[in-house]
Amino acid sequence: MEINQITVLGAGTMGHGIAQNFAMINKKVTLYDIHEQAIERAIQSIKQNLESSVKIGKLETEQAAFALRNISTSLELKTAVKDSNLVIEAVPENMELKKDIFRQLDFLTAPHTLLATNTSELSVTAIASATNRPDKVIGMHWFNPAPIMKLIEIVKGVNTSEETIKAIEKLSKELGKITIAVKDSQGFVTTRALAAHMLECMRMLEEGVASAQDIDTGVKYGLNYPMGPLELADLVGLDTMLFASEGLAQAYGDRFRAPQILHKLVEAGHLGRKAGKGFYHY
Ligand code: NAD
Repeated sequence: MEINQITVLGAGTMGHGIAQNFAMINKKVTLYDIHEQAIERAIQSIKQNLESSVKIGKLETEQAAFALRNISTSLELKTAVKDSNLVIEAVPENMELKKDIFRQLDFLTAPHTLLATNTSELSVTAIASATNRPDKVIGMHWFNPAPIMKLIEIVKGVNTSEETIKAIEKLSKELGKITIAVKDSQGFVTTRALAAHMLECMRMLEEGVASAQDIDTGVKYGLNYPMGPLELADLVGLDTMLFASEGLAQAYGDRFRAPQILHKLVEAGHLGRKAGKGFYHY
């Protein structure tokens, strides 16, 4: 099946980037959200991103205009998913919310439509259990910023069919992405690996081993990481990191328990870049 009509649910940090990326390879995309403001912000960000790409010579003006024309928006779920071959869910990381959406999708989409979730760590199998088509439900885990980051982590639920996996692998290739195949396990490969080193850097900061800046500089220049783990935690969002560590600690034990410093920053509302304060001030 050719996947050429895609709906992205949730027009936030990830959803707008995912929609932009598909539009750039000439897929028709409908971007859906429950908040009109989120849709407006998303379209604004997509326009700005495309303009920046034109400015630095990565995209022709016509290509940018063409990509924008491929995107439509909707505030009504039924209309948004009506003609889709693939729906990608990128709403907040909450199992009940995701299950509720997949329950509705099962009812509102054509039987052949594939249903993907961009969850960073929740069980794809559990999300799929809200539908009568678990063979067509899959984890398609993108990275931020979606049009730039090269990886798609493909998560196979217990009942995901080989056909569904192949279709998502093919689509990821069309996007020019690199894929990895991952078993449905808490945090998959990337969230688990990221949390492990981020939490260790937070513990070092708490123990006074070095300042936040020196820890980040050490990891960046000594280990050749593009970003320091603490500045990356600020970019991801400290509430998101705390949520991830709680899930991972339940699955794998105390080594993923969040250090006090992370609890304290979240309690204080210092959630990272989005709040103007986290491990750093912005
Ligand atoms: P976000 O908070 O930036 O955006 C979520 C969007 O969903 C908002 O625009 C919100 O209005 C909308 N929304 C809320 N309820 C909705 C509903 N019922 N129907 C439709 N839209 C609804 O979140 P995000 O950072 O884009 O994360 C989305 C998902 O992607 C999460 O599962 C997250 O774990 C995952 N993820 C995030 C990142 C990241 O770096 N932020 C990376 C990979 C995966």
